[in-house]
Amino acid sequence: MQKCNDFIPVCSPYLAGNELKYITQAVSTQWISSSGDYVKKFEDSFKAWTKSRYAISCCNGTVALHMALVALGIGKNDEVILPSFTMIATAFAVCYTGAMPVFVDINRDTWNINTSLIEEKITPRTRAIMPVHIFGNPCNMAQIKQIATAHNLYIIEDCAEAHGAKYEDKYVGNFSDIATFSFFANKNITTGEGGMCITNSDKYDKLCRYYKNMCFAVDSPRAYIHNDIGFNYRMSNIHAAIGLAQVEKADEYCTMRIHNANIYRELLHDIPGIILQKDTPRATNTYWMNAIEIDEKTYGHTRDELAMHLKEYNIDTRLLFVGMHKQPSLKKYGVDCSSTYPETDKLSNCGLYLPSATNLQESTIEYICNVIKDYTK
Ligand SMILES: *Cc1c(COP(=O)(O)O)cnc(C)c1O
Repeated sequence: MQKCNDFIPVCSPYLAGNELKYITQAVSTQWISSSGDYVKKFEDSFKAWTKSRYAISCCNGTVALHMALVALGIGKNDEVILPSFTMIATAFAVCYTGAMPVFVDINRDTWNINTSLIEEKITPRTRAIMPVHIFGNPCNMAQIKQIATAHNLYIIEDCAEAHGAKYEDKYVGNFSDIATFSFFANKNITTGEGGMCITNSDKYDKLCRYYKNMCFAVDSPRAYIHNDIGFNYRMSNIHAAIGLAQVEKADEYCTMRIHNANIYRELLHDIPGIILQKDTPRATNTYWMNAIEIDEKTYGHTRDELAMHLKEYNIDTRLLFVGMHKQPSLKKYGVDCSSTYPETDKLSNCGLYLPSATNLQESTIEYICNVIKDYTK
């Protein structure tokens, strides 16, 4: 197998539109703080794209989660249910409020929260469910909604990895009280660092705006009276300028990602021991990451051996998230670690991210898949 000379990263941002033009505009007009008009333009374009009524920008996806929890009044003595397999921010945001994160294992096929295990974790203290559309694959929102309604719980969707994904033909983010996005540089749509809450509730829109901007009194902001403890979670005009340019291309980027994921799937699905994430039925995955799980016995090599082998061929990979129940920080905080999360552990121990940039070339994907195939024992 001929080795590719160029290093193929797991991720790189794709800035192929008006980013530079809009940033230049922001800088040349001196509107660089959150008061500039790209912030509103970005929010308006994002809410139009996701077909939600309100969009509230903020400085990253972690604080978007915190802002959503605070707006819903979640805090001390409350419990919030989330998947054990997610990025740490989902759990940390719950801890910031003083509430307790409670974990539910994932589904073998979709790698999303296993909805049939949610109800056994509900207690009188449970206030909300936070589904995470992992790697761009929407959760089973019909079942989550049913459970939330039956138990009078809020839903906060963590859409940080699922820009443009749909469940039953509706954009993710519209199945919850408040949904959150991240625009970190490796996400499908990026502002470098950035975040957004979307909601269809006028009340939550107002509360998010209130909390993200230091709880200035809404009617007389210059009076410097603050009735609640607020946060400075504002997004700058420069970041929003990048965001607006990204949203203009969002549909195109989603199409490219879906196209690339389909090639990966076609070339990988019949390699023995290589397991792919299964798309949720009636949903559109936008594939933040093309991840694989390696069944060592069938494939003939361990996950770590494959990662080293790919590295020799200039192909970058990354390990997957480690389960929330395995995090020393959360154990210190007091989360219940008595339950087991076998599917999370299995995926975390045997999974690998493959290069997943939006503008990955077909020939590069073919090269990567050939290297994986040739290494089979
Ligand atoms: C990236 C990510 C976040 C956090 O976003 P930041 O912008 O990095 O703070 C939250 N949840 C999930 C599932 C993520 O992947």
